[in-house]
Amino acid sequence: MKNPTHCPFCKSNHVVTHHHGQKVGATLGTIAGAAGGAARALAGAELGASLGVVAGPAGSFAGAVMGALLGAAAGCTTGVAVGEMLDDHIFLKHECLECGKTFSA
Ligand SMILES: [Zn+2]
Repeated sequence: MKNPTHCPFCKSNHVVTHHHGQKVGATLGTIAGAAGGAARALAGAELGASLGVVAGPAGSFAGAVMGALLGAAAGCTTGVAVGEMLDDHIFLKHECLECGKTFSA
């Protein structure tokens, strides 16, 4: 993560960094991951069901929940990575609090 210490326009060091792409990426990734997790949830439910002999119906439910959670977590991680890439290449990341201009590193 590049962090400029001063504004290239007015040389002020009152600069804040935005992570628009990272947030958008994380959100989209989480949604996509949860959707993908639904597929995993089915597999998890099957696994849970086979374990259900021991754990009962709660086993298949826990398997489905685990599948969705794992999918969402994986999707979020991927989304953040993609979002960081977008931040680096597309979104303006830094804003000067003195002159109000935005700039990328
Ligand atoms: Zn400035």
